[in-house]
Amino acid sequence: REKSKNVLQLISETLDRDLIILLRTIGEVAEDIGFKAYAVGGFVRDLLQKQKNLDLDIVVEGDGIIFAKQLVKTLGGRVRTHDRFKTANITLANGFKIDVATARLEYYEYPAALPTVELSSIKLDLYRRDFTINAMALQLNPALFGTLIDFFSCQNDLKDKLIKVLHNLSFVEDPSRILRAVRFEKRMDFKIARHTERLIHGAVKMDLFGKTNNPRIFTELKQIFEEENPILAIRRLADLELFQFLWPDLLPNLKIDRRFLHIIRQAQQAISWFHLLYLDEPIEPWRVYLLAIMARSRPRQIETFCERFQIHDHICRELIIQKLTADEIGNKLYGRIPEKNSEINQMLKNLTNEGLLYLMAIARKKEIKKTVSLYVTSLRNVQSLLNGDDLKKLGYIPGEQFKKMFSDITDARLDGLVKSREDEKQFILKHFPR
Ligand code: ATP
Repeated sequence: REKSKNVLQLISETLDRDLIILLRTIGEVAEDIGFKAYAVGGFVRDLLQKQKNLDLDIVVEGDGIIFAKQLVKTLGGRVRTHDRFKTANITLANGFKIDVATARLEYYEYPAALPTVELSSIKLDLYRRDFTINAMALQLNPALFGTLIDFFSCQNDLKDKLIKVLHNLSFVEDPSRILRAVRFEKRMDFKIARHTERLIHGAVKMDLFGKTNNPRIFTELKQIFEEENPILAIRRLADLELFQFLWPDLLPNLKIDRRFLHIIRQAQQAISWFHLLYLDEPIEPWRVYLLAIMARSRPRQIETFCERFQIHDHICRELIIQKLTADEIGNKLYGRIPEKNSEINQMLKNLTNEGLLYLMAIARKKEIKKTVSLYVTSLRNVQSLLNGDDLKKLGYIPGEQFKKMFSDITDARLDGLVKSREDEKQFILKHFPR
């Protein structure tokens, strides 16, 4: 039983004018070439909750590639096509991105004498999606613009705040959906439906992904770590007994005890703190969370994790180096916080932003966090006032020595030994013979 209703009103209340015009244009372009176009997935889910979602996924009944090329002809922008899956990624002139997929007509063979049945391809496309809340479509062709297509009573699940798979084999088909279920549950404060949760338990019992190294799983794990507050999701993964799958060789060390939760919480705080400070400096939170979760593991265990999920060698090496460096510094700082700022700089200079945040996460004393935060917000930015020309004017010849001079001036500034340009000149003349 198909339930469809028109949500034009909701569209005009929720979406910006430009976006509505874009949706209408998509429908018109599709109509012109005899295809049907639908907005699908998270976009529709969020629309029904009166929320904006700037990822636009379009499914075309027809040929997605022909459609995408035609749309770019009309609107400008760039298109990248993938012939094998008949998908395309469009970037419009203003930077807006649209993913286009093709719903292919397929035929269902019924046993015995019954005829072959042609399923509408959008229905099949939606049936293959992860959860009912993501399995609605919005008609965009002019005559039916704004018609919501809901074959599987998805709207009810959305209203009841339930995460439900579309069929019993869903997790067998793609175990990474388990991570998606947890992510949506915690992000939207929904609940994984009882039957769906039972299927998850079943999948875990069957060791469904015991051997899988499906890179999608790591992609989804990263997605969880990109959420604003992934702690509840991380706990839920543990409760669903997924940790033993994600980090099997860690089991002896991997206890969801107070210390573990404390580290994760501190990681989350450090990341939020960093985001507030440096809105435009990109960091990769997943690295911080992964190291925080693996705080008690050895390099070999991190390697195993990376191998399993096909994480590049250089990323793996970087993770291990940052962890070992931060662990060692963490121990040193636990024993003694250096008095001299220059010493703090020296200690922390080899850590990346992610390494620094991990160090804050494992800090066992407030003073350690304070020291790292002082370094991040001020010490690491201190520079000498003099430049190369100044040194030349003082009679020094450029070369290796300049590096040492700058670094010594910086240390002197950090420790308050020099304050002005004049101080720096005197300092250099005193310590470096011409
Ligand atoms: P978000 O708000 O996190 O972007 P989203 O629902 O848009 O959520 P995407 O990962 O961008 O999530 O996926 C887009 C759509 O593709 C989903 O709404 C879902 O319908 C479908 N989808 C994504 N991953 C899967 C999967 N593993 N199995 C089935 N369908 C999937």
